[in-house]
Amino acid sequence: MNDDQTLTAARKALAELALPDGTPLVDSGRLSGPVRVGNRLSLAISINETELQDFESVRAKAEAALLSVPRIDGAIVALTGEKKGSPAPSAPTPIVQPKSKPPVLGGVRHVVAVASGKGGVGKSTTSVNLALGLRALGLKVGIMDADIHGPSLPTLLALHGRPRVGRDRRLLPMQAHGLHAMSMGLMVDAETAMIWRGPMIMSAITQMLGDVDWGELDVLIIDMPPGTGDAQLAIAQGTDLSGAVIVSTPQDLALIDARRGVAMFRKVDVPILGVIENMAHFICPDCGSRHDVFGAGGAEAEAARMDVPYLGAVPLTMDLRAASDAGQPVVARAPDGPLGTIYTAMAEALWSSLEDADPAVPQRQAQGV
Ligand code: ADP
Repeated sequence: MNDDQTLTAARKALAELALPDGTPLVDSGRLSGPVRVGNRLSLAISINETELQDFESVRAKAEAALLSVPRIDGAIVALTGEKKGSPAPSAPTPIVQPKSKPPVLGGVRHVVAVASGKGGVGKSTTSVNLALGLRALGLKVGIMDADIHGPSLPTLLALHGRPRVGRDRRLLPMQAHGLHAMSMGLMVDAETAMIWRGPMIMSAITQMLGDVDWGELDVLIIDMPPGTGDAQLAIAQGTDLSGAVIVSTPQDLALIDARRGVAMFRKVDVPILGVIENMAHFICPDCGSRHDVFGAGGAEAEAARMDVPYLGAVPLTMDLRAASDAGQPVVARAPDGPLGTIYTAMAEALWSSLEDADPAVPQRQAQGV
């Protein structure tokens, strides 16, 4: 089936559905899409806040209808709408579900967001190496990037091909360096991002998280999209996070951004598990000496001022960048090397604070779990 035939079949399947007041869904003027990407269809239904409960069954039926289309093995239907009092009525905002872990993430003990106030500070690099550090402790770890416009996991972990479809048509995470990994870039392509702009993407992301069969995990790391706007707030509220890690560079500006990140998570009662200072100092590749280009101790002092744990500092090194570009993160390449040791120590601190919050989680020390 070509695209046109698939979309015609999708519209036909949707034609059977009606809104709670009896209006046919396809005539309601509330639809964006459907859009096809590979073997997946996506659709957004716009609603207002008071309609959320009534429309959940419409959403579920629309998803089932799209899944009934031949050769389609995945469907995402998002409820989106205007927030009351929104200053920009043209910008759709996800209607956020009450805070609770979606049942499909029930096998995941801890969902941890890795966030930064702005892009380019090394959030994705940190997410991957922290995940590998947790894995080196013998934990079962998943990682997912949630940045539709710049998914970086396929490069960082050298993920190739498409994820396989498992039970209930849910996607099976890909395996890389002992991690269970999934990337937005493998689920939705840039074409879809054209219709799901800004915050609208985010309600889809929480649903996509559930579209993956994560199985049993000790920790699922979510590499958040950069920034601290409504979009990030929606993920924080939609996934019942155990906590968040904020990545910052030492410059003042980045710290201001980091403060915004801390404030955002606090607003929705998500504990801040720690701040990581990335590119904290420069290690000269020729002489190996350390240069505190941005001064020393700024991020640690700032973490103390914000009353959040300081997990540690990662230097700016060519090795780290080269390893990431090659799809061989430093912790996978040399867990006992100087950088591997830094990340593993931070992972240990992170795991202890997660365990403190939930002492029922077993301490796993054995490798190869
Ligand atoms: P973000 O996710 O915040 O946008 P990335 O993790 O993609 O940032 O990092 C941006 C770039 O900086 C990448 O090329 C990455 O390899 C590089 N980088 C990140 N951290 C370091 C570091 N400590 N030393 C050297 N290069 C780094």
